[in-house]
Amino acid sequence: MNPGTEIQLYNSMGRALVPLTPLREGSVRLYSCGLTVYSDPHLGNLRPYVFSDSLRRLLEWKGYAVEQVVNITDVGHAVGDGDEGEDKVEWTARAQRVTPQEVAEHYTALFFQDLEAVNVLPAHHSPRASAYVEQMIEFAKVIEKHGYTYLLPAGLYFDTAKSPGYGKLALMPNAGQLEGGRVSSEGKRSPADFAIWRSDPPDQRRIMRWDSPWGPGVPGWHLECSVMSISLLGPHFDIHTGGVDHRQIHHVNEIAQSEAYLQDGQDWVPIWMHNEFLLQGGAKISKSAGKMPTLRDLTSDGYPAMAFRYFLLTGHYRSQMDLTDQGLQSALSSARRLAHRVAALGPLPDIRTYEQARSGLGENALAVLNSIDAAMSEDLNTPRVLADLQVALRSADLARDELAVLAAAALWLLGLDLSTLAEEPASESGAPEGIAAEQVEALVRAREQARTSKQWGEADRLREELAALGVQVIDTAEGSRWSIAP
Ligand SMILES: [Zn+2]
Repeated sequence: MNPGTEIQLYNSMGRALVPLTPLREGSVRLYSCGLTVYSDPHLGNLRPYVFSDSLRRLLEWKGYAVEQVVNITDVGHAVGDGDEGEDKVEWTARAQRVTPQEVAEHYTALFFQDLEAVNVLPAHHSPRASAYVEQMIEFAKVIEKHGYTYLLPAGLYFDTAKSPGYGKLALMPNAGQLEGGRVSSEGKRSPADFAIWRSDPPDQRRIMRWDSPWGPGVPGWHLECSVMSISLLGPHFDIHTGGVDHRQIHHVNEIAQSEAYLQDGQDWVPIWMHNEFLLQGGAKISKSAGKMPTLRDLTSDGYPAMAFRYFLLTGHYRSQMDLTDQGLQSALSSARRLAHRVAALGPLPDIRTYEQARSGLGENALAVLNSIDAAMSEDLNTPRVLADLQVALRSADLARDELAVLAAAALWLLGLDLSTLAEEPASESGAPEGIAAEQVEALVRAREQARTSKQWGEADRLREELAALGVQVIDTAEGSRWSIAP
């Protein structure tokens, strides 16, 4: 049923490659922690979604029915990521003199635009945290009933000492280390304990607030993901993804409270996957690092969004990547060369699964397909898929229609939409920077036709046009040849 190489994923829980065994046969349920929508999504914010999109594409490639949730955090995430302090969305609202709803809508729209621009398949569900507060209160009541909480003036707290295996994901069984260095609410039993419900501070009235059995306030950030994932995907689902920064606290706390809620003796989610950071000049791209390029910054610098996706795919998702101009430039050139090679194959077939791709391929092409499939199946080795595709496109052993199948398959798996790049220059094809080889060929052909029909004026004009592009035409007995003028 599951064709090709068996999928192996690197599970942060246990830090090892594990085979994927879906909880329900034939389908995979996937939750990817979403964005807190309070500022321009920067390039570092997009890496987790290109990663989870690669994962989703692999699962669909293998024929699984995938259900994916990417949430939108529009309330509850405090500035500084801790339990205290102003809500991030409210903070922006106050600074911009608009409502928190307007802030959330504005940045959610930008986030969706960016995801579309880098060709991330839309999630099946994009729940807003603010729409799930009633469920969050019900969830917290159950945890309280199960005896995992205690009440402080700052809110309802989760007692991590009651949670067996707390911190296992972070490889930090000594839970006390987890929130080291952070401001602790008065009365917390352990620094690792965290707010499930954050009460309104006495001196401050939040704009977004809900009544609860523990007084008016907002849900804790960690609680949101537990509630939205369980509400939409069921008590247990297959894979939970996020940035590696979530591995230490956010996901640890999601696990603790979900298992306290479910109380069924099972691991909440079997597979946890985390992408590494995107760095800039060796520093993580984030608020604290200062400068944060966005996708709009890149496109206004002349890099199409697809060059950024290509750049990310040249690294493994579990490797840190450094974003440099040189790296982006090189990704753009490679993506354009690939676009030209693929454009020469004509319209590609619509191929989205291994099953579709393999039928009709000869032995050599099937070997390439299996190599691409194996690379992707072995923990999403996108750099190897790109390399396999490049090698295949240069191969003399493969028929054009087989190449078209292989290209369609690899590009779908990688989520590379090259249509936006094909008209752009291709330096490797022999054409000078700034003109496509096809454009030069067309001019050369037009000039040959003009010469054949003895339209000397037109032929000379075309020769000048080519010269202006830096192309030298040499007329031979076999026809015209062209080269780049030295
Ligand atoms: Zn989350």
